[in-house]
Amino acid sequence: MNPIQDALADIAKKTSQRTKQDVNAKIMNDPDVQQFLAEHSSELTEEGIQATMINLFEYCAQKDGQDKIMAGYLPKLYVSGQGVGIKYVASKETQMKEQITAAKKRITLIELPKSLREIELEKVDMTLDRQEILHKFVEIGNQIQSNVHVRGLYLSGPFGVGKTYMMAGLANKIAQKGRTVVFLHMPSFIAGLSSHFGKDNNLADEIKRLSETDVLILDDIGAESLSDWSRDDVLGVILQARMDNQLPTFFTSNLTMDELEEHLAKTKSGIDKTKATRLMERVRFLAKEMTVTGPNRRFENLD
Ligand code: ADP
Ligand code: MG
Repeated sequence: MNPIQDALADIAKKTSQRTKQDVNAKIMNDPDVQQFLAEHSSELTEEGIQATMINLFEYCAQKDGQDKIMAGYLPKLYVSGQGVGIKYVASKETQMKEQITAAKKRITLIELPKSLREIELEKVDMTLDRQEILHKFVEIGNQIQSNVHVRGLYLSGPFGVGKTYMMAGLANKIAQKGRTVVFLHMPSFIAGLSSHFGKDNNLADEIKRLSETDVLILDDIGAESLSDWSRDDVLGVILQARMDNQLPTFFTSNLTMDELEEHLAKTKSGIDKTKATRLMERVRFLAKEMTVTGPNRRFENLD
């Protein structure tokens, strides 16, 4: 017997025979108990039921939620031998909470605030100008769920309109559908490349992770300061791998795609338009450009 049952058995022992009969009668009159016994009458015997009465007692005490032993879990009866067993299953609410916790574990944020994990797609305000994007997001969520190939989006628009915020809503939705997501702030990631990946940290492993994650979101692309190496051997390699494997890839940027092409041409060591064009072919293949408009919300909550 488990500790709960020991305690209940102790209470049962202490009650007089008379009260015991009353309790038994109460248990047997319980409609849920009656239904269970009726459904399984062919498998159960009278002796079996009597011998496991303690489980029916526990079930009646727990199912209505007074003195809950395990909050968020509901008791459930099952046939055990010729008698009745009891187990606990997560309530709908608990299942949802557990799903959300599991989903949060599927998102890796790189150089982005943890608060982005809390943004729900359904709660992003649907103003007219972003209706199209949010509808697209919902469609993407459904496509991901049914394993249909998904082409990413490239959200371009001015600073502070909510591009990162909306993308976080999408990232959380995708993670809830069981996919892994890496959401990465490009400027900080590129700036930290040489310091993060010394001898001990293997950059090749990181590139592999970014190339292979189910969904990759590159936030604020175009705001980083690139070298030939970070452009061609890091960004270029990741985008090529994602294109080859047709893996959903998303971008946010203050630049349009055409402006990004100019930005990618310039590195610390000079201008190379051909390399930029080749990189942009991958971006254009991976994602459809959509423009986000609206006010700068960045300072709206400040006095
Ligand atoms: P962008 O990435 O376009 O520069 P952000 O996504 O960082 O803009 O949004 C700017 C600020 O406005 C952030 O503090 C963000 O939390 C807030 N914000 C953006 N969109 C919304 C929204 N729909 N509801 C509430 N706050 C929002
Ligand atoms: Mg942003």
